[in-house]
Formats: sequence, structure tokens, C-alpha cells
Amino acid sequence: MQVHAYGAHAADKPLEHLHITRRATGAHDVQIDIAYCGICHSDLHQIRSEWAGTQYPCVPGHEIVGRVAAVGAHVSKFKVGDVVGVGCIVDSCQSCPDCDEGLENYCDNMVGTYNGKTDDAPGWTMGGYSQQIVVHERYVLNIRHPEADLAAVAPLLCAGITTYSPLRHWGAGPGKKVGVVGIGGLGHMGIKIAHAMGAHVVAFTTSDSKRADAKALGADEVVVSRNAEEMAAHAKSFDFILNTVAAPHDLDAFLALLKREGTMTLVGAPATPHPSPNVFNLILKRRSLAGSLIGGIPETQEMLDFCAEHGIVADIELIRADEINTAYERMLKGDVKYRFVIDNASLAA
Ligand code: NAP
Ligand code: ZN
Repeated sequence: MQVHAYGAHAADKPLEHLHITRRATGAHDVQIDIAYCGICHSDLHQIRSEWAGTQYPCVPGHEIVGRVAAVGAHVSKFKVGDVVGVGCIVDSCQSCPDCDEGLENYCDNMVGTYNGKTDDAPGWTMGGYSQQIVVHERYVLNIRHPEADLAAVAPLLCAGITTYSPLRHWGAGPGKKVGVVGIGGLGHMGIKIAHAMGAHVVAFTTSDSKRADAKALGADEVVVSRNAEEMAAHAKSFDFILNTVAAPHDLDAFLALLKREGTMTLVGAPATPHPSPNVFNLILKRRSLAGSLIGGIPETQEMLDFCAEHGIVADIELIRADEINTAYERMLKGDVKYRFVIDNASLAA
């Protein structure tokens, strides 16, 4: 089946309208009419080939919400008409210890929603900047938010789970002081979720203009990280810092804010490495520097249900498909409050 999509033919080309083919709906597959798709900074990294291995044409998008249009004969979890989501994962080996634990995100054979190896033509996956997608039911999520919120739910499928998973893993909650660095798509979700978990949340931003917003999102305090005095006031005080910054920067400035045995987890994935942190910042206080990749399917469902229960959605700017290239430029400048979401109905226009 041919569907309208938006993607690029090369790293130095803008995204444009194109047609892609979706596989026939198999016995375990769910065919989804996509209503909305969020724009993640990873889409930009990959379409510009900032990480190795982008295949072209590349159709990004892994923050997908839509409605079930058809189901295969063996599908038990979904029926036609259900409102569902798809995040960053559309396949995995389903038999390794990671998959057995519901940590498909760490499976060595995890298949990303776009640019992942697949038997479907042309040999790599195509993402959510498209009218429809066909996905094995294991990787499809139930959406329990009100229908009116659907566009703002889309970013939960990546920005939501990528912040929820490390916040849970490192125990964000009452009595814990948690920092969130970088107030973009991921960071603004991190603030909302950490606040809902009951932590004391401090937002770190390079943008003075985001101070008031960060408070409104749920931060108890806001620090402009370019201001050394403001940073020093928080020395050795954090249990956990979630770093979402999409560019290389000085990690030591944040490691020095962790208390003994505190952890800073990197989720931002810049195209080039950070300068090496100073080893003494780690050994003197037995601190940890860690990383985290999205989240597994069961935890993604847990996150969606947590957000539905707490009334959490993303703050979004809804755009048409022909505004995607402009949205990328604005995202690079930090000029988005706080996630662009594509109205996929505009793909056919
Ligand atoms: P985004 O919306 O562009 O937000 C990134 C934020 O980082 C910006 O809003 C800005 O916040 C800050 N920032 C940007 N450049 C900076 C610089 N040079 N120095 C300091 N701060 C800077 O991006 P996103 O969609 O949230 O994604 C963030 C990163 O996470 C990307 O690298 C993305 O690929 C990665 N990611 C990783 C995973 C994972 O599983 N680990 C999943 C999704 C995305 P302020 O204005 O507040 O400073
Ligand atoms: Zn993403």
C-alpha cells in the first residue's frame, strides 16, 4: 500500500513530500492511521546523517499516535478504532534476556521505527512522518488520554519515556533533589514527570527566557547554567541529574553539583563527543556518570498510564508537513515551546 510521507533523499537536502510503501498487515500486525507525529531532535540528527548510517530516502518520526485501521488474524491486544501509540521501537529479537525482561530497547537486534533494518522494502524502516504505519502488536501502546489531547500525547512516545525511564531507574521521588538539564522537548517532559513523581526539581537552562516557563512546567527552582554563581549555590547537593542537552558541553559543571554517590545520566546524544569529564569529580565523591536509551515497551505503557493519570501531556506547537524544514531550523536555535507535532492530515494536502 502506497502512502503519503515526508522525508529527505540526502543529508544535505530538505525534507519533501514523497510516497512510501507499507507492508500488508500480517497476522500479528496492527495497521495504524497516523493522526499526529512529534518531531524529536533525533530526527534531525539522523536525517542530516550526524550519527553514522542513515539510509535514504529517510522518513523520520517516532512519536506516533493514531487509530487502528486493521488488525491481523492473531492480534489480541487491539481492535479497529482503538487509539494507539508507537514509539521508537517496531521490532526486536523477542527471545534474548533483554526482550524477556521487557527491555526491548536494549536488545542487540532492536529495530528503530525509522532507519532500522527490516525485510520490508526498501530494507530499512520508515517512520511516522507518514499517513500509515504497520507494526507488530507487541510494539503498539494503548493511549488512555482524552481524545482532545492526542496531538500533545504524541511526544510522550519518545520524550516522555526517555525521561521517565531514567527518573524511575534512579529513584526520583519524594525527598530527592533532581536536576533536569536542557529545557527542550525531552527536558520539559523531564520536569513535568519528575515533579509528578514528587521530587524537588531544579531546571538548568542556557536560556534566561525560559526561567518563568520552567517554573510553570513544575520546576521548584531554575538555574541559568551560564551563571557561575547560581551554579555554585547548588554544589554537592543533587541525588540525580538528567542531562538532555543535544550538543557537546562541559559535564564537570554539572558533576560538581552531585552529592556523594549521586548520578548524572546522559540522554542527549550529540553528534560529536563531550570534552572528557575530570576524573576527580567522579572519584572524590564516588559519583556516577551514566546513560539511558528510551525505555522498554512495558515501561512505555506504564509511563503513558502514569501521564494519563496525572494529566501530563507535552506543550506543543502543531504544524503542517510543509512547515517541517522551518521547524528543524527553529529547534536548532532552541526556539520551540516545547515540541513540534505534525498534523499528519496535512501530508495529503
Ligand atoms: P531539543 O528539543 O532541541 O532540546 C535540547 C535542549 O538542549 C535545548 O532546548 C537547549 O535547552 C539545550 N541546548 C541545546 N544546545 C545547547 C548547547 N550548545 N549548550 C547547552 N545547552 C544546549 O532536543 P530533544 O528532542 O529534547 O533531544 C535532546 C537530545 O536527546 C538530542 O541529542 C536527542 O537526539 C537525544 N535523545 C536521546 C534519546 C535517548 O534515548 N537517549 C531519546 C530521544 C532523544 P536550553 O535552552 O534550556 O539550554
Ligand atoms: Zn526521539
